[in-house]
Amino acid sequence: MPVVHWFRRDLRLADNPALGAAVRAARDAGDEVVALYVLDPALWRTSGRPRLAYLAASLAALAESCDGRLVVRHGRAQEVVPAVAREVGAAEVHVTAATEPYGRQRDDAVVRALGDAALVPTGSPYAVGPGRLTTQAGEPFQVFTPFRRAWLDHGWAAPAPRPRAIPWAQVRSDPLPDAPATEARLPAAGEHAALRRWHAYLEDGLAGYASARDRPDLDATSVMSVPLKWGEIHPRTLLADLAALPRRAGGPSADDVTRFRSELVWREFHADVLWHHPGARTRSLRPVLPDDAWARGAAADAAFEAWCAGRTGYPLVDAGMRQLLATGWMHNRVRMVVASFLVKDLHVPWQRGAEHFLAHLVDGDVAQNQLNWQWVAGTGRDAAPYFRVFNPVTQGEKFDPDGDYVRRWVPELREVAGAAVHRPWDLGLTRPADYPERLVDHARERERALADLQRGKAER
Ligand code: FAD
Repeated sequence: MPVVHWFRRDLRLADNPALGAAVRAARDAGDEVVALYVLDPALWRTSGRPRLAYLAASLAALAESCDGRLVVRHGRAQEVVPAVAREVGAAEVHVTAATEPYGRQRDDAVVRALGDAALVPTGSPYAVGPGRLTTQAGEPFQVFTPFRRAWLDHGWAAPAPRPRAIPWAQVRSDPLPDAPATEARLPAAGEHAALRRWHAYLEDGLAGYASARDRPDLDATSVMSVPLKWGEIHPRTLLADLAALPRRAGGPSADDVTRFRSELVWREFHADVLWHHPGARTRSLRPVLPDDAWARGAAADAAFEAWCAGRTGYPLVDAGMRQLLATGWMHNRVRMVVASFLVKDLHVPWQRGAEHFLAHLVDGDVAQNQLNWQWVAGTGRDAAPYFRVFNPVTQGEKFDPDGDYVRRWVPELREVAGAAVHRPWDLGLTRPADYPERLVDHARERERALADLQRGKAER
């Protein structure tokens, strides 16, 4: 009897315990493994072109790894998965467990629809499965630092070996999806590309991470968020490589390694929070603003459109939003600045910005995206102090000190030398005429945001 492995957010063969379980079950039965990917029309409809183009390329790479036998079927999982199981006569469908709200609900529906066949989950996209860790009182963690301590104490498994010579079954497949046309310059997709990039980063990029990671002009971060999102690589692999890193002169310091690992723990923490609070996908965990604080109507819509297009008149914000449109990715420091600007300078609800991010980010991930937005908006449990409002000008001067990042993404400002690029309004007659005026006055909007937050606090 063949066994189905249903790929979802684990588009790889290496270090994939669920696939390992499927291969063992098939070998025990003396039969083959059906490699299934379900293209859900809902996913196709709600994703932006860069995301879909990346997914299409990643599926093409996976199909090659599966000796051309990846079975792609279009439709809703609760219909397609039982139909494929029946068609091939499989009693087991193996998966890496889904932990986010949509995936959990979908899997419940699939279990009901499978009838006698079983959905067998093994592992998750995280080193420590969401929901595993609790405080000593048995409660979910609310804040990061004690979570990190518990996470480190708990430890994680070694990477699973890559199964050798998998007997893939030949089953009818719909054609692989065509990559939609996009002008975005995307990273190479697939598990081999992810591993190559990761090894190159360990060799050349990680040294200096602790001090350079906040500098968008330096390309000092790993961009591993993309393969982590699609499961082309598992965090266990990254953690094992970090732990085994040889010390060498000029190589990564202990600080670089600790800091990088700590960022991976943020990823695990957000997944854990969303596991316990699935409503955080759309609702503030801690509503901090009175309802009437949000901008509404045509003016708010116009401000939102200008933000999306990178035409706010604040160079660091505009550079970030244009980097997003051009590449499907944005540097973390700039994500914080543009998010703060939308929520605290333009008074647009975080949910609207989060949807735009999810549609365009190639690493767009519900847990990381919604909870980082909540962190910036001050509505998360472990959020930046609610009165923190990023200043888009001083952030630019501090983290893009020579203005290189802004010049890379905002061509209208390319002729402006040095840090002056962060204050085009001070350039007098040399101010580029085609760069927009400031949409709002930051100092005034900051006062309004703080006053709103004070009112919200008084009402709570
Ligand atoms: P590196 O600095 O190389 O970090 C290594 C890894 O650590 C990353 O690949 C990522 O997996 C993890 N990491 C780093 N920073 C964070 C963080 N703040 N939160 C959680 N994990 C982190 N990340 C996503 O993966 N998907 C998203 O949809 C997403 N949306 C975001 C929205 C906002 C408003 C903000 C402020 C941040 C968001 N992040 C998101 C987190 C972070 O910006 C990215 O993970 C990071 O920029 C990815 O770049 P990198 O891989 O080069 O990071």
